[in-house]
Amino acid sequence: MSVFPRISLKPEVTDYLQSVFLNKEVLAAVGHQEAESRFQKLLTCLSHPPSYTCVRVSTHLASLEEIRHKLGDELRKQQLCGSSADEISIQILPHPQIPDVLLLPVDGPRPAQQLSSEVVVGAQCGSAVLRGAHVFVPGILGSPKYMKAGDVVSVVSDLEGRCTRGSSDFQGKKVFVGNGVAQIDRSDIFCTDKPAKGIGVQMVEPLYHSPSFDGVLPDLVFLQNLPSVVVGHVLGPRPGERILDMCAAPGGKTCHIAALMGDQGEVVALDKIRSKIDKIRQNAQMLQLRSIKVYCFDSAKAVSSDSGQDPQGPPFPPESFDRVLLDAPCSGLGQRPNMSCTWSLKEICSYQPLQRKLFHAAVRLLKKGGVLVYSTCTVTLAENEEQVSWALSTFPCLTLQPQEPHIGAEGMLGAGLLPEQLRLLQRFSPELSWDQTETPAAALPRRADGDTIGFFIAKFLKN
Ligand code: SAM
Repeated sequence: MSVFPRISLKPEVTDYLQSVFLNKEVLAAVGHQEAESRFQKLLTCLSHPPSYTCVRVSTHLASLEEIRHKLGDELRKQQLCGSSADEISIQILPHPQIPDVLLLPVDGPRPAQQLSSEVVVGAQCGSAVLRGAHVFVPGILGSPKYMKAGDVVSVVSDLEGRCTRGSSDFQGKKVFVGNGVAQIDRSDIFCTDKPAKGIGVQMVEPLYHSPSFDGVLPDLVFLQNLPSVVVGHVLGPRPGERILDMCAAPGGKTCHIAALMGDQGEVVALDKIRSKIDKIRQNAQMLQLRSIKVYCFDSAKAVSSDSGQDPQGPPFPPESFDRVLLDAPCSGLGQRPNMSCTWSLKEICSYQPLQRKLFHAAVRLLKKGGVLVYSTCTVTLAENEEQVSWALSTFPCLTLQPQEPHIGAEGMLGAGLLPEQLRLLQRFSPELSWDQTETPAAALPRRADGDTIGFFIAKFLKN
C-alpha cells in the first residue's frame, strides 16, 4: 500500500524526465510498456525512503563486529528511553561485499492515525523524519495555536514551501509523516528572539521507523547512502597517496577516502561555499582523521598556470594528484525521500555546463596513470551517461575502467555509448527493484543494493 503521493514536479520537468526514460534506445530495448512502467515506478519510489538505513563505520578505529555490537547496545538504550511507542526488534546487518557498511531495515509504512493538531515542517525536515530523525526546532514552520510541551501532535511536511513561519492553520499541500510529542511551547518557538535549537517534536509514531542516529557513536558510525560509500571504494585510494576531492562538503566521501588510506597520505578537500567548509573540518575531527586539508575554493579554477605556486594549497599545478574525485554538483533528482521538487527545467538543465568545467580541471590536475571518479546523485542522462560520452570524446587520454564493487545496474541507454561501455558504468536505479510487497529483511542483499537513492558512478584512467 502506498500512503504517499508520487514526487510532485513541474509538468515541464515530468515531461523531460519521461522523454529521458522513454528515449528511442530504451524503447527499442525494452518496449514501451516496460519503459513506461519503470518511469512510473521511479516517480513513486522517489517520494519514499529507501528500505534500508546505511551507516558507514570507522573501521580505521575499531572492527566492524565491535562497532556492530556497540551500535546494537546504543540503539536498545534509545528504545528503552521511549523514543518509540512500541518495541521494534533492531536488526543490524553487515553488507556481504562492503566491509565498512552496516544496514538497518526500515520498517514502514506503518499505520498511524493522523490527528487534528498539526505541526508543519519544511520539506527537508519532513524527509529527515521519514529517515528516522526527530523534528528539530528550526525545521518547524507552523504549530497549533496553543501548543504546549507534552502535547501529542501530527507532523506534516509542507510540499510546496508555502507555509509562512508561525502559521497555525496551514491549508496548503502537505503530507503526514507521523505523530510525536511536542517538547516545547509554541511561544518559545515563534514569540522569542532566540528560539531553542534542540528537539521540537520527539517522534513516537513515525510513518517509517528507523533509529535516530543523532549523537549515537559519533566517531564510529556515519550515516551515508550506500552508493556514496561505494564511491570511496571505487576510487580505491591507497596509503601515502595524494587525493583531490573537488566538491567535498559536507565531507562524507572525503572522510571515507582518508579512512580507506588509514589516514596516511593527503586528502585535499575543496568546496566553493564557505559556510559548508566548517562541516568538513568538524566531520574530519569527529572521525579522528588528520590527513584531510580543507580549502574554500572554486574547483573550476583550481589549476594553476604558474608551476612555481605553493603546491600545498589551491590553485595546484597540473598533474598534482594520484586520484581525483568529482562528486559533482547536480540536479539531485535521485535523492530519497523527496516528495516535491519546485525547480524549473532551466534549473535542472543548468548543471551540465558546470560539471564540464569542473571535469576539465579534474583531468588537468590528475597525474598520468591516475584515477578519476565522476559521480552524481541524479537520474538524468545529461548529467550522467552523456557526460561520459562527452568526456571520452573530449579527452582521448581517458579510458573507462571496471568498478569494484559493482552492485548497481549498468549505465542507461540513450547517450550513444556502446554496450561494453555501459557495462563499466554503475547506475543505481531504484525503479528497477521497487517492490512494496516484500519485507526489506527478507530480500537482503538484493533489495539493499537496488532500493537506494538514484546515483551514478563512472571511473576513468588517465593514460
Ligand atoms: N562530496 C560531498 C559528500 O560526499 O559529502 C557532497 C558534494 S555535493 C554533491 C556538491 C558540492 O559541490 C556542494 O557542497 C557545493 O557547494 C560544491 N560546489 C559546487 N560548485 C563548486 C565549485 N565550482 N567548486 C567547488 N565546489 C563546488
